[in-house]
Amino acid sequence: MKSGFVNIFGKPNAGKSTLLNALLGEKLAIVSSKVQTTRHRIKGFLTDPGQYQIIFSDTPGIIEPRYKLHEKMMMNVKSALEDADVALLLADANDNKEENNLLFSNLKLKVPSIVVLNKTDKTSKHKLAEISDYYAQQHYCKKIVAISALQKTNITSLLNAILEFLPEGEAFYNEDDLTDLPTKFFAGEMIREKVYELLGDEIPYHTAVIVNEFKEKETLVKIQADIIVQRESQKAILIGESGKMIKQIGTLARKDIENFLQQKIFLELFVKVRPKWRDNDMQLKEFGYH
Ligand code: GDP
Ligand code: MG
Repeated sequence: MKSGFVNIFGKPNAGKSTLLNALLGEKLAIVSSKVQTTRHRIKGFLTDPGQYQIIFSDTPGIIEPRYKLHEKMMMNVKSALEDADVALLLADANDNKEENNLLFSNLKLKVPSIVVLNKTDKTSKHKLAEISDYYAQQHYCKKIVAISALQKTNITSLLNAILEFLPEGEAFYNEDDLTDLPTKFFAGEMIREKVYELLGDEIPYHTAVIVNEFKEKETLVKIQADIIVQRESQKAILIGESGKMIKQIGTLARKDIENFLQQKIFLELFVKVRPKWRDNDMQLKEFGYH
């Protein structure tokens, strides 16, 4: 039996969350085309009973902190650096290789690292060969695997590469468990994803979601959540003309949560203003950013 922590690192937008979902065959981490969507460290377990248990971690993209929220995000990256048994260094194959190389070397990982080249669905063969040669020369690189997380190409090869480096050990978690985070957390994330999807460039970064009520009733689950913003003007945009925007967020989020829970839900959303919450320790804690 093999078991261990396999943590995914990379720049914002490299496809870390998409990769976690592809590896698990389940949508656990929210994804968007905007950078810095992921704020937490999200663990997902992949178990083949008697064979292996891999504890994957998606992490926020590595950035220079500008607010306390960013600092909390980078603490999540730090904790993932500390407990990794195997590191997946994820690079968008079309991205600047020197920049990625600098970031990967600066992590100073002491565990086997697999360089994973992503988005090969939009990379030429020539380019892929060139960057593979480049990464093969880097001291941290034990292996290179080229994938498309979006199209789920070569995920099995990646899994086999991971198993080569995974240490011997017993399972840490129950073989049926998918994650150690509460369902309530994922409900909040799915709401946050819709804010990233539907609203312009600025607002998502000023937004947090807090799930106040998650009650399993006989025929459905009742969820009440607040969407937090920093300013009244943002609240007005989130609500939209005669409530159109908040309704749309609610409808899309409800569908995703129902899909995830395989159960009917009743979702109630409120928008609240909390000025400067991103720099307020008490509020960061209240909104789940420890
Ligand atoms: P993260 O910030 O590293 O977690 O990146 P996400 O997983 O949120 O993905 C960022 C964007 O890249 C999203 O729009 C994804 O759909 C897209 N993406 C991820 N993987 C691939 C891939 O293999 N091919 C293509 N074309 N796009 C991808
Ligand atoms: Mg992400």
